[in-house]
Amino acid sequence: MIGARAAFERCLAELRALHAACPAIASFAPLPDSLAEQPVMPHDIPAARLMEEDDGLFSDGFEAMRDAFIAASPHAQWRETYKGTRMGPDFMNRFACYCLVGSGGPFVSDSLGAYVVYMPPGLYYPYHHHPAEELYFILAGEAEFLMEGAPSKTLRPGDHVFHPSNRPHATRTHAHPFMALVLWRGNMSVKPVLTHPDGEP
Ligand code: FE
Repeated sequence: MIGARAAFERCLAELRALHAACPAIASFAPLPDSLAEQPVMPHDIPAARLMEEDDGLFSDGFEAMRDAFIAASPHAQWRETYKGTRMGPDFMNRFACYCLVGSGGPFVSDSLGAYVVYMPPGLYYPYHHHPAEELYFILAGEAEFLMEGAPSKTLRPGDHVFHPSNRPHATRTHAHPFMALVLWRGNMSVKPVLTHPDGEP
């Protein structure tokens, strides 16, 4: 296992490479040449194991970033955004997200937040929203993305979807898992909340 700082630097190097190569990422937000660093208090969750051990995360050109995010997993502050909500243990034990740039992450920036999101096969992440604008960029696997006012779409490695500020959106996996780089811009201080806190959808 490589050290925490080396693991996070590798993730940032992959983010820089993708930002330089991918117009959708580059046009979403600037990535400053120098990012402030902060210590990360690691926090483990069961879903981190699922991601680390998942052999279904096929990619198509984004293997290095996928592997960098997996290698940093033991050092990450895995989030429990929906603890204390109606989301039960199955979701809490299988949905995985940690921060690379932003609160709880190893780097900080005013211009963007960057997160890793993983879901195993057969999981539904219900409609939720947040003031920040958001870009999901699929690194591995496949998932169905739903957004109020738009047809659902199935995304695979290299595909992306944009979620406007406070627009409810949801994600469903079927036969495959997925891993995405998720970018935020704008008001990043407000966490996501469930759009229907008392029940489905
Ligand atoms: Fe979101």
